[in-house]
Amino acid sequence: MPARVPRVTKTEAVVLKRRRFGDSDRIVTLLTPARGKLDAIAKGALRPRSKLAGHLEPMTHVEVVLAHGRTLGIVTQAQTIEPFAALRDDLERLSAGLYLLELADRFTVEEAEADAAYVLLLTALLRLLRGDGQQLVVRSFELALLEATGFRPEWQRCAACRAEVAADGLVWSPLAGGLLCERCRESHPESERIDVSVVKVLRLIQDAPYEEAARVRLNQRVAAGMEGVMHDLVRAMAERDLGSARFLAAVRHTRPGNDVGDDSSSEDPASLNGDVTYTPQEPQGASGQTGS
Ligand SMILES: [Zn+2]
Repeated sequence: MPARVPRVTKTEAVVLKRRRFGDSDRIVTLLTPARGKLDAIAKGALRPRSKLAGHLEPMTHVEVVLAHGRTLGIVTQAQTIEPFAALRDDLERLSAGLYLLELADRFTVEEAEADAAYVLLLTALLRLLRGDGQQLVVRSFELALLEATGFRPEWQRCAACRAEVAADGLVWSPLAGGLLCERCRESHPESERIDVSVVKVLRLIQDAPYEEAARVRLNQRVAAGMEGVMHDLVRAMAERDLGSARFLAAVRHTRPGNDVGDDSSSEDPASLNGDVTYTPQEPQGASGQTGS
């Protein structure tokens, strides 16, 4: 009987996060275009002279060769395409970059095609790298990712009944996923007022070409307003999605032994576990990423 030939795949990927696995290995979470998000073991990555480790830091754009292991894939080769080194040396941009990774992680499931999310993430990281305004890069990524994953927010009409909304005195709800009309706001006690300037810029970023939105000068008030609105929205959508995403992930992982990927022990202080927050002033655990 011939020996089984192990199948290998070569793919590019963005490293979303990593965690310790045993004494000398790491499990890395990769976002790939064709296979979506997947965990793979990087054997020996914790050893001082590992050839893999330097290529598998979170945020790295990398080309990997994956061998199909019994339960998880195994990274047999890794070659950095873009290290995003300049982002790691700048705490504000690092924080923004890590937030993009966290969002991409939250809005994708294991082993499901994620080409759109992959392209959006890589594009946003490259825009941060070339020095584009962080507000625009991050807001644009949030809106596009929500749209690509079926959560396009509604900034033109009532998100609940599609009726026209008044031009001023605008009200929105994160749970409804956008603006609410006069009538629908009564059944949404959580709804709150939203600055018309914030809505106008959100509409522009959502629907106009990126270069056009990039020409808009954002004042502090509008920028802060947009950030608050988008954080509430992303949190609401992520929570709404959690049940179905978990279900899909569970269905796809029915093979025995796959619980190895659920090891929650994390060695990565900068993985922004927990609530989605984007705080350029106080990057969470960002020191763990610098100088890598
Ligand atoms: Zn309505």
